[in-house]
This record gives sequence, C-alpha cells and structure tokens, in this order.
Amino acid sequence: MPQRNVSRRAALLGATAGLAALPFAGNAALAQVVSPMAGEKVYIDPGHGGDDRGASANGVVEKNVTLDIAKRLREILDRHGYNVRMSRSTDITRSLSYRVNDANSWGASIFVSIHCNAGGGYGFESYRDDGAVSDRTVRLQNNVHARVIAWMNKDQSVTDRGKKAVGFYVVENTNMSAVLTENLFVDNVANANLLKSAAFRQDVALGHYHGINNFFN
Ligand SMILES: [Zn+2]
Repeated sequence: MPQRNVSRRAALLGATAGLAALPFAGNAALAQVVSPMAGEKVYIDPGHGGDDRGASANGVVEKNVTLDIAKRLREILDRHGYNVRMSRSTDITRSLSYRVNDANSWGASIFVSIHCNAGGGYGFESYRDDGAVSDRTVRLQNNVHARVIAWMNKDQSVTDRGKKAVGFYVVENTNMSAVLTENLFVDNVANANLLKSAAFRQDVALGHYHGINNFFN
C-alpha cells in the first residue's frame, strides 16, 4: 500500500483555504463550514455489532470497521451542520428491525448503511432496494457510489463492482431513500490491508460525506 504525504496535503489544504499566513490556525479555523443543507437528518447504520461480528478474515472484523468508518462519517457530517443519528455508536447488538424502526420513527431524510464484503471477491459495490424506488433513491446511490469509489481510488486502484439493486432488509424496509455500501472484501488480503489503514478508512468516510453532501446540494 502506498504511503501518503499527509503533512504536505494538509499544507496544501491550508494554502487553498487562504490560511497559509496564519501559522497557528489549525483545524479549528476550518472546523465550522456549514453546508447550505445544514440540518438535514442523516441516519448512519454501521453494519453488525455486538454478538454479530459480520465477516472476519485477515485480522479484520467487519463490525469494527463499519463502526469506525461510521464514526468518522458522523464527525464530518456534524462539523458541516448535518443532523446525524446512528443505529449504534458502540459495539452493541442491534436487530435489523431496530435499525429500520429507529430510522423511520426519527424521520430520517436518508439512510446510509455501511458494510464490508466477503466471499471471494474484491472491490467496492453499493446497493439500493430492488423494488420500485424513487428517482431520489437512485440519485442518492449514484452520488454516494461515485464519491466513495473516487476517494478509495485516491492513492491506489480499487475495483468498482458497480451499483446494484437487492432487497436487503434495511434498504427495503426504511421509509426514506436508502443506500448500503459494501466497502471492500475482508477475505481479500489486499483489500483487508487497506481496511487496516486509518488513513484509508478516513478516505472512505470522506467519500460517503461528499456523496451525501452532493446529493443534498
Ligand atoms: Zn455486513
């Protein structure tokens, strides 16, 4: 996996934001960038948890990766003024019906479920319900899928397995537009090595954020 030059990137970002002349202006100065769509209710569903570990291989346990990416995504959305709720923010067991009912009763605007894949493949894919879905749901999947794969490919080449439609419980039973992402395969060594990298997981979270933000804007 290629190394990243994080400090150079941070310097470039600072310069772009016009902060190069402010040597002590760190992240705090960049923290409050409120989106025009601030307040939109985004429900994040980290797959599995507690007794349900999800897939595991190569030292990667799905329930831990999904929670880590989801918390990173929540932090970014919070910072941009979105209203975020999560199906879990710790390693606890949540039934699929709990996740759906919680999002529905909260009145979420969108539902984003985060998973990792297994079963002998590699790469990224996303899912929406296979029933009759609204144009809004298709647009949500299009935006999230495009941005996640773009951020995954920032420093390496990750296979795009495409946008799919399958009636998974959470995308089928939520009342709002819903998308489920399968973020690489834990049973593929190269994919698992990426998932072990905090910098990669942050890029995956950023990809989800930009997809969501594009959708609302
Ligand atoms: Zn899963």
